Amino acid sequence: MARKAPTTDPGDENLSVGPAKDWAAGIPGVTVALRDAVRQMGVKRSAQTLPRINQKRGFDCPGCAWPEEDKRHIAEFCENGAKAVAEEATLRRITPEFFAEHSVAELGERSGYWLGQQGRLTTPMVLDEGATHYRPVSWDEAFGVIAEELRGLDSPDEAVFYTSGRTSNEAAFLYQTFVRAFGTNNLPDCSNMCHESSGSALTETLGVGKGSVSLADLGKADLILVVGQNPGTNHPRMLAALEKAKRGGVKITAVNPLPEAGLLRFKNPQNPSGLAGRGTPLADRFLQIKVGGDLALFRAFGKLLLEAEDAAPGTVLDREFIDTYAHGFQDYAAQARTTGWPEILAATGLSRAQIQAAFEEVRDAERLIVCWAMGLTQHKHAVPTIREVVNVLLLGGHVGRPGAGVCPVRGHSNVQGDRTMGIYEKPKAAFLDAMEAEFGLPMPREHGLDTVDAIRAMRDGRAKVFFAMGGNFVAATPDTGVTEAALRTTALTVQVSTKLNRSHAVPGRRALILPTLGRTEVDRQLSGEQLVTVEDSMGLVHASRGRLAPASEALLSEVAIVARLARAVLGAEHPVPWEELAADYDRIRDRIERVVPGFDDFNIRVRRGSGFALPHAPRDSRTFPTATGKANFTVNAFEAPHVPPGRLLLQTVRSHDQYNTTIYGLDDRYRGVHAGRRVVFVNPEDLKTLGIEDAALVDLVSEWTDGTERRAPGFRVVSYDTARGCAAAYFPETNVLVPLDSTADISNTPTSKAIVVRLEAAG
Ligand code: SF4
Repeated sequence: MARKAPTTDPGDENLSVGPAKDWAAGIPGVTVALRDAVRQMGVKRSAQTLPRINQKRGFDCPGCAWPEEDKRHIAEFCENGAKAVAEEATLRRITPEFFAEHSVAELGERSGYWLGQQGRLTTPMVLDEGATHYRPVSWDEAFGVIAEELRGLDSPDEAVFYTSGRTSNEAAFLYQTFVRAFGTNNLPDCSNMCHESSGSALTETLGVGKGSVSLADLGKADLILVVGQNPGTNHPRMLAALEKAKRGGVKITAVNPLPEAGLLRFKNPQNPSGLAGRGTPLADRFLQIKVGGDLALFRAFGKLLLEAEDAAPGTVLDREFIDTYAHGFQDYAAQARTTGWPEILAATGLSRAQIQAAFEEVRDAERLIVCWAMGLTQHKHAVPTIREVVNVLLLGGHVGRPGAGVCPVRGHSNVQGDRTMGIYEKPKAAFLDAMEAEFGLPMPREHGLDTVDAIRAMRDGRAKVFFAMGGNFVAATPDTGVTEAALRTTALTVQVSTKLNRSHAVPGRRALILPTLGRTEVDRQLSGEQLVTVEDSMGLVHASRGRLAPASEALLSEVAIVARLARAVLGAEHPVPWEELAADYDRIRDRIERVVPGFDDFNIRVRRGSGFALPHAPRDSRTFPTATGKANFTVNAFEAPHVPPGRLLLQTVRSHDQYNTTIYGLDDRYRGVHAGRRVVFVNPEDLKTLGIEDAALVDLVSEWTDGTERRAPGFRVVSYDTARGCAAAYFPETNVLVPLDSTADISNTPTSKAIVVRLEAAG
């Protein structure tokens, strides 16, 4: 019984702004979760589905990648997890009739929210060249269209194969096997836009591009720094872990330009105090740092640690760790000591006293953990910033010690797993060697295109076919105008999707929509029901089993789509037994076990309890597979964003009713925004200086070094407690302001957290 989707597309006509909150979750978190669940699934299906989220025999939440404790709660999900599941398990259906009614041009006029609310895709659809509407197509015809285009290319490098972080390990492994068998490493993924900077910095300094902290470590720490992250919205169950740590005596310092509710206080709905009381204060210290000022802050911590050691030798630094396990200490120390306070204070916007007080807790912590997210990774100097974080941790030996380490918190449920499976445009030679040994096929060795380079290649006509395994490429990427034009130049765009989104309305000359199973649904193949696996933010690999009947009998799993596509493109004689692998995912896991280190006895271990942890040499044995064989201190240029007078530094953020580019609703209740999204948060003192009134309507205009400007029109000004000189607004609406060429050094990640803008009266 399909539920009716909203027909009207609400803009901001009912937008209202009230006071921001200083606490997260609580009863509203429960009521909103249940309201959205019932709205999408009805009461019975909600009661069937919600209790299965993140349970050992249940399915993995398609939201973020926050891990679970071995002992599960009855409700092992948060408000935003419930929203993610409700939208996937919705009873709303998009049938061929919908596409007959709505032209591509009309869909292009619709908001991302409206598109997402239309429900689950049910039928493969094709947009013929010159057509205005998608029409239904058989799977065989669809794979035929893709094979024809791919085989017609002059080179496999004229095709781009994108991956969103929701793709399971099994589908990701088979997908990269197909793409490399086809002959290219053009495997960009959403990680390019989020934690690529973390991967680059950690691989260089520690030898492993992943976090070294387990959930248990959070409770063993003395101090946790939560930097450039808004867990209340983006990793909500992290609040329960922080609350537990707090109750165990752990101190928490939050570093953020915005006083996010989820950093200040948590009303845990699983506890009486969370339901009826004031909840648990989280951050003991809140440093309202300027956007992009984190490099300076960690440089200051390093400088002060060195000076404290100078004053009392042998009492501050972990000399044994530095001498035994680290490289480059002297050069780093020399630079840190010479960094001046005027530039540190200017870059951070903090007072000397604030930094001193925070430093003393860093100094006194035996076990220090630093957690971070996009607030560090989406800047021009993101990689040096994360290197400075590592420098401070190495001074105290806070790697490979229980209760200490690095904790980049991943945003997408299997984004880390996809990378582990080989979804990477710069694969290591060892991985390709193992692939060649396993499949007896030559692997392409030339590095491929990441996300930004893929857009450039499409723009410049060097890439002619774009294939996306999930995601919403158009809304997730920068420079929206340029990206959309680039996609439209291609011969073919293919979107493997569960729901409608803006990328379906930005087709190449031809386009395909391939509807796939969701995590909540039974995945039945020739050998029976299949489980898939994912890897969470802390390197735990675990199983996910869907239980709901598929939204349509025409759906194929991601694995089945890859297997049939590979056979269609590579031919009937191709030696890889695609069909056999798709018939039983245990066979894919056997291949993974032989190719990817750390997956021994994969099929056995993943069926036990909560799965298993992947090895992490720096954590497990203080072994650092770096260029020096040691943990590397680094010397980094002192950088901070430069903002001309009369301009502000804008960071793009999510609202609380949003997950990546998926808009669940139009509220951002923690920040006091209701029924609207085109708002810009600005400090009241900055408004005074700029002569702009609260609630005024402005255009945001970004200014790029090449003199080009980009405009996002019609934003309501919200006078808000942001760091001075710093503003914030939601993406994807403000992605248009981020120039394609404005990327982080080394990682090439778009600088979505640091956009120089001016505010102009609208209209
Ligand atoms: S914290 Fe993340 S993974 Fe967990 S339920 Fe919420 S959205 Fe899902």
